[in-house]
Formats: sequence, C-alpha cells, structure tokens
Amino acid sequence: MNKKQRRWRNRIVVAIAIFAVIMVVDEAGLLASAFGSPGDVYAAFALYLVPYLVAGHDVLVKAARNIAHGEAFDECFLMTVATIGAFAMVLFPDTDPHMAEGAAVMIFYQVGELFQSYAVGQSRKSIAEMMDIAPEYANVEQGGELVQVDPAEVAVGSVVVVKPGERVPIDGVVTEGSSQLDTAALTGESVPRHVESGSEVVSGCVNMTGLLHVRTTKPYGESTVARILELVENASEKKARTENFITRFARVYTPIVVFAALALAVLPPLLGMGAWSDWILRGLTFLVVSCPCALVISVPLSFFGGIGGASRLGILVKGSNYLELLAKVDTVVFDKTGTLTSGTFNVVAIHPEAGVEADYVLSCAAHAEAFSDHPIAVSVREAYSGRIDRERIRDVREESGHGVSAQVDEHVVLVGNDKLMAEHGASWHDCDLTGTVLHVTVDGAYVGHIVIADVVKDDAEDAIRELHEAGVRRCVMLTGDRADVAAAVGERLGLDEVRAQLLPQDKVAEVEQLLAGEREGGRLAFVGDGINDAPVLTRADVGIAMGAMGSDAAIEAADVVLMDDRPSKIASAMRVARKTMRIVWQNIVFAIGVKVLILVLAALGLANMWLAVFGDVGVAVIAILNAMRAMRVES
Ligand code: ADP
Ligand code: MG
Repeated sequence: MNKKQRRWRNRIVVAIAIFAVIMVVDEAGLLASAFGSPGDVYAAFALYLVPYLVAGHDVLVKAARNIAHGEAFDECFLMTVATIGAFAMVLFPDTDPHMAEGAAVMIFYQVGELFQSYAVGQSRKSIAEMMDIAPEYANVEQGGELVQVDPAEVAVGSVVVVKPGERVPIDGVVTEGSSQLDTAALTGESVPRHVESGSEVVSGCVNMTGLLHVRTTKPYGESTVARILELVENASEKKARTENFITRFARVYTPIVVFAALALAVLPPLLGMGAWSDWILRGLTFLVVSCPCALVISVPLSFFGGIGGASRLGILVKGSNYLELLAKVDTVVFDKTGTLTSGTFNVVAIHPEAGVEADYVLSCAAHAEAFSDHPIAVSVREAYSGRIDRERIRDVREESGHGVSAQVDEHVVLVGNDKLMAEHGASWHDCDLTGTVLHVTVDGAYVGHIVIADVVKDDAEDAIRELHEAGVRRCVMLTGDRADVAAAVGERLGLDEVRAQLLPQDKVAEVEQLLAGEREGGRLAFVGDGINDAPVLTRADVGIAMGAMGSDAAIEAADVVLMDDRPSKIASAMRVARKTMRIVWQNIVFAIGVKVLILVLAALGLANMWLAVFGDVGVAVIAILNAMRAMRVES
C-alpha cells in the first residue's frame, strides 16, 4: 500500500469505528431516551452524517466536480445520489429511518474502491518487477578506471564491463571473459546460458559468475531491454474488443439504470400503487446495485494480468486485442528457416565442377555473402576458414528468396538457388543430396554447389504436437527452400501441410489463401523470424516473431514476440490467452448476473440497501481476485 492508500484505509477504519459506536448507541435505545421522539431521529441523522462524511466526502466532491464538467452518470454520481437519497428519507417520518444504510453504503463503496486501487497497484507493480530489467548504468573504462555512465550515452562499438551480479546494459558481443548468464527475466528460461568470447549477449540478462567485456553492437535505445520496455508500456493502448465493449456498455448502461431508478421511484406511487417512501427506497437500492465498477475494472485488469503472465514466460504480447485473437487461433503458419529450424546451417558437401578446388567455391560464396544477414549467409561465412576481405567486394545485391550477387575483385559472383540461376541464364547441376543447395557461378561460369542443412529446433516437434492438442486444426510450413528439404522437415515434425519454393511475395499470397479458407471465428497466426517475411507477419491475424534471433523489422511488424525463439512458446501463449479470455467472460457473466438478480429483487422490494451494497462490493472484490489469476501462469 502506498501512502495515499494508507491514509484512505485509515479514514475508512475511523468511519467504521464511529459508525459502529453510533449504531450500538442507537440500537440500545439511548438516543430515544435522551432525545425522545421524534428528536432521536434527527439526532441519529446528525450522528450518522459524521462517518458518512469522513468516509465519503471526496466522493461527494468528485461527483460535484464531474457534474460541473458535464460528466454525470459515473459511479461517484450514483453513490452520491443513492446515499443522499437514503438520508433524505428522514423527510418521511412514517417509515423506518435509513441514515444507517446511507452511511454504510458510502463506507462499503469506499472499501471496494480501496481494494480496487490496491489490486491495480499490485498487478502494475508485479509487471514492473517482472520487467525490472532496465539497467541503471553501464561500466565504461575511461583512463584506466571504470566509470558508471548512463547506458543511453554509450556509443555503439565501445566496450562495457559487466561485473558478476550486474545486468548486461546494452546488446553486444563478448570480447573477453566467460560467464553464466541468467536470462530468466527475458525468456522465462531458468537454466543459465554459458557465454564466452565471441558470444552475443542481450541486454537485460544478469551476469552471474565471471567478469565480461562486451563490445556493444547497438545503441541502448535499440537494445533488447529498451524495446521490451517500450512494448510493455504501449500494450495497454491496444484494447481488446471485449474491453471496448465493456467501456461502451458502461456508458449506455449507467444512464439507463439511473432513469430506471427514477421511474421506479416515481411512477408506481403516482399511479397509486403504494407509499412514496417504499418506492423511493427501491429506486435508491437500484442505484446502489447499478454501479458498474466490477466490470469496468476487472476486465482490463484481467487482460493486463494476461499480458503480464505471458511476459513472465518470455512472450511479449503487444496488446490485449492480440490475446483475444490468440485465443481463437486455429491455423498456425510457420516459416521454416530460423523458426522451426535453428537457422544455423552445416555444410554437408561441396561439389565443385571438374578442375575447380572445393575451397575456391566456398571462398567465392563466403565473399559474396559477406554483407548478408540471412542465416544462410552467416553459416557460409562461418564454414569458410579463410579471411574475408570486405574491401574486395562491391555491388552486392541480395535478392530475397533467390540468393545474392556481388562483384568480388573483378569477378561477378552469384550464389543462390535454381531460381537465381535461371534468372541469370546460368546453367547448373542438380544435386541428389537432401539439403539446401547453393549454386555458385563466377562470371557466368558454373563452379559448383554447396549443400547445406539446417537443424530442426529441439522443441519444434513438441511445439506442433502441443498446438494440435490445443485444438489447432492446421499447422502449415511455408518455405523458400527446396521441396525435398521441406518435405523432410514436414514429415519429421508432423506438419499438416508444407509448401516449398516460395518467394517472399508468394508467402503473402499463400497466407491470403489460407485466410480465405479460415473457418468462421477461426484465426490465423503466422510465425517467422522476419528475415524477408515481415509483410506476412503484418498480413496474418496474429503475427508472431522470434525475438532473440529475429530481425528488428520482425519485432516491429509482429504482434507477439517470443523472446527465446522457442516455437513451443506459441502453445503457451495460446494457453495464457485462453485462460485470460475465460476469466474475462467469467467476470462479465458473474458480475452482470448478480447485478441483474439484485436489480430484480430491488424492483420487487425484496432487496434492501444492505444487500445492494454487499452485492456490489462483493461482486467487485470477487471479480478482481479472479482477474488477478490471469497473471499466474505455469511454464
Ligand atoms: P525460408 O522460407 O526457409 O525462410 P528464404 O525465403 O529466406 O527461406 O530463402 C529461400 C531460399 O532462397 C533459400 O533456401 C536459398 O536457396 C535462397 N536464398 C535466400 N537468401 C540467400 C542467400 N543470402 N544466399 C544464398 N541463398 C539464399
Ligand atoms: Mg525466413
């Protein structure tokens, strides 16, 4: 509890204490003996006004202020009218007085409000704690000494020192030292990751054991930590349809109830159906129950909890609308490279043409690929043992889904698949090994091909199985790779469909087609690493990107980001989404159900104000407790 909430609580406790004393005095008949009748009623009126004002003066002020701003019909207004009305019943001396109810309604309303404020604060805090990944400083060496500087001021390419126990402040590559990194805050993964010289490290991880020197590869603003914080901060802006519906509902519902209460209080007595005091009391009870706070607060709180719970598992959901969509996904479309497979390729074979050295083929390929970020390019460079002199390379052109062309020294080198060869009118040999084949030509002459194979991620098979178990109807893989590679992967993972030899624009077309074939109410998710599939990510109902490996473009374009690149997290994300939606609907049905019930009872004169206020606060408390369940997730 913060200071404001503590003062609030103390005020409520004082009000309850005063209230209790007055009630005891009143019930014991002391007021009656001291003031006689009807003096005791006026004494009680004055006395109950004290706890009422202690507890609720701010509500009265707020209601007045809102009316002055032309925003009547909020919950403060409802409570003010209902409680003032209860006190005003003193004008009907023939009925039992209702000042006690008036004061009690205000006190319990405040109890409910305090609880709400506390619950919202708690879940905000726990998300903030979970997201407590922002580094406060970076250690930089200046004149032989370590100085703590603001991470935002560290230039790209400088070396920062990360001591054991400190957080990696900026994304980079280890240049010195080795250590274990705790990545749990980012990925939900509890096994520490070993890093050594040459390993890439992302900001937000905690360095556990050794001293590390890290050469930064990004400015702080573009580092993982800064991006995650930005995503989480903006998540509440993208509201789910259910959430908007509730806001709209409350806006329409409150005035309706107010007018219904008015009608209930005025019409029957005008028609001579009973005493004014009786019907006015029913109208007031109506007002107390009508307060929509349980819904208005618990629905967004559930979504908030769901997003927080997901981020604990290393799944960043960019808005509650995406949770709502995820819950309905029944088709999941995967990109192959980097998504289902690790994206690091091993060279399986090099088949040079007669009279050409195998190493020459690899060297040409490695040089042509020198500037590419494609996983194939990275792997080819890694397989090449020689040095790559970037000075020798000019005119690099990367053709998505085809390959690359570049001028190396005075020679034009092409590296890519059949399509690239066909496009440039080069001849090539097929290969009967299963694998991705990179044909290489130099100045139009075919020098041979390199066969590479990537490894299926260790949880890919589980990922597909879990998705099927979760009720996903179709798991489809799209790839630009050869049909035999695609078929082999599809077979192994138990995919329902594979489509190969696709250019990036073909992938969009395939997704369009799958979207058209969607079942009523079903949604399609596309999962990719963003290397030339960002357009598909935006086109799908839900775009899911691999965050650790994925390109920045993918993380921008995606709606959901998996921090640890594990495809099995898709099923986890769907489980969190469905649980959240279940909780949201439970709250909606429960809150509206109980309210309608009490409203009916009130109209029939079977509910009094006590029941109304306990109904209202009780429903709010239960709905909020239920909403907070959304935050608890099992990994
Ligand atoms: P995927 O659909 O598996 O993610 P891409 O669409 O990125 O694959 O690429 C499809 C195919 O295009 C690759 O299998 C490869 O044959 C060729 N290709 C793409 N980029 C390159 C590159 N940089 N070097 C060589 N070949 C490439
Ligand atoms: Mg790809």
